[in-house]
Amino acid sequence: MSLTTKIKELGEEIGLDIVRITHAESFPEAEKHIIESVEKGYIPENDYYISKNISERPNNPNLNKICKRCNPKSILKNAKSIISAAQCYLIEETEDIQDKNQPLGKIAKYDIGNFYYDVKLKLKKIVDFINQETDFKYKSKNKSCYVSLAEKPIAQRAGVGWYGKNGIIITERFGSWVVLGEIITELELDTDESLQRDCGDCTICIDSCPTKAIVSPYAIDRTKCLQFISERSMKVPLVFREKWGDRLYGCTTCQEVCPQNREVIPKKDKPEYGYIGLKIPLIPLLQMTEEEFQNYFAYNQIAMRPKEAIKRNTVLALGNIGDPRTVVPLIKVLQEDDNSIVRGHTAWALGKIGGEKAKFALEKALKIEKDKEVSEEITNALRMI
Ligand code: SF4
Ligand code: SF4
Repeated sequence: MSLTTKIKELGEEIGLDIVRITHAESFPEAEKHIIESVEKGYIPENDYYISKNISERPNNPNLNKICKRCNPKSILKNAKSIISAAQCYLIEETEDIQDKNQPLGKIAKYDIGNFYYDVKLKLKKIVDFINQETDFKYKSKNKSCYVSLAEKPIAQRAGVGWYGKNGIIITERFGSWVVLGEIITELELDTDESLQRDCGDCTICIDSCPTKAIVSPYAIDRTKCLQFISERSMKVPLVFREKWGDRLYGCTTCQEVCPQNREVIPKKDKPEYGYIGLKIPLIPLLQMTEEEFQNYFAYNQIAMRPKEAIKRNTVLALGNIGDPRTVVPLIKVLQEDDNSIVRGHTAWALGKIGGEKAKFALEKALKIEKDKEVSEEITNALRMI
């Protein structure tokens, strides 16, 4: 049995849903696409997504890191092959919350547990296996869970799936409900063909995106994408705030509507790491210390995000849910939070919920607020009441 076959069999045995292989040459098309997206302003230039592990490319310091992300050999010089894996994260939905009569925030399906960490551990087993089988002759790097490598072009070339017009990889059996992971190795393995599939005439995701972030097929304006915004401490444009709905983290609207995802059978078992469920009580998130935040979301990806971003998401969701019982805890945030983005969005939430108590608190806050942008948010919130 070839080593390639043994690796694929091991992948299946340890619970990876798809394991395929491609060569380790660079991805010039993906690099061009990402650079174009930055130039068009679809990805903020200072975003960590771009700025980590950038290789030096003189004359273009803001774009040169993309080059490295799209060139596996910049990560492992003598790389010959990439093992591309996918694991389905669609699980049967269960009701975990006892008290449903409280405001709850929605968690995107891909984050109800830390599926990336699970894949990473499984790929580590494959790296160990390769090392044993080859007597440590070849270097291999497990690159799942990192932003240092563009993983979708790898999955596409390896035939794990094809690009949907929403920019997400779609697999034959699990639709786009998959997380991806990779091993770059010096070992020369048998490669797989890419799949000759595409979305055809379908445009459902483009039509359904609440913020019209899919500006054309395969081109996503991340600055409008609720998934992207939910992970970062940035101001949410006023026009998107009602569209935010009750989201606490992430967005999967363009996946929920995709016909390729309709027939996927959910798994029964809950994720092993970082399970937080599909809905989370919002009020307790308003007053968490950094330590409590880290403990609450331990092993979940949310713990890696700025607490301020999650708090901003919380107040937006509360504003949209509109429960008058949340006015008092929101006023406390408006009065006490150190972060101007959090205070500004809290003002919006209070304006959205409305009522005399919210109005009085906003008027009082306007008199003492020092930050110009927050003052503007408060003025705008008062106009909403
Ligand atoms: S994740 Fe949400 S906001 Fe982003 S493109 Fe998809 S539907 Fe639009
Ligand atoms: S909704 Fe349609 S266009 Fe969008 S990814 Fe799915 S199949 Fe492709």
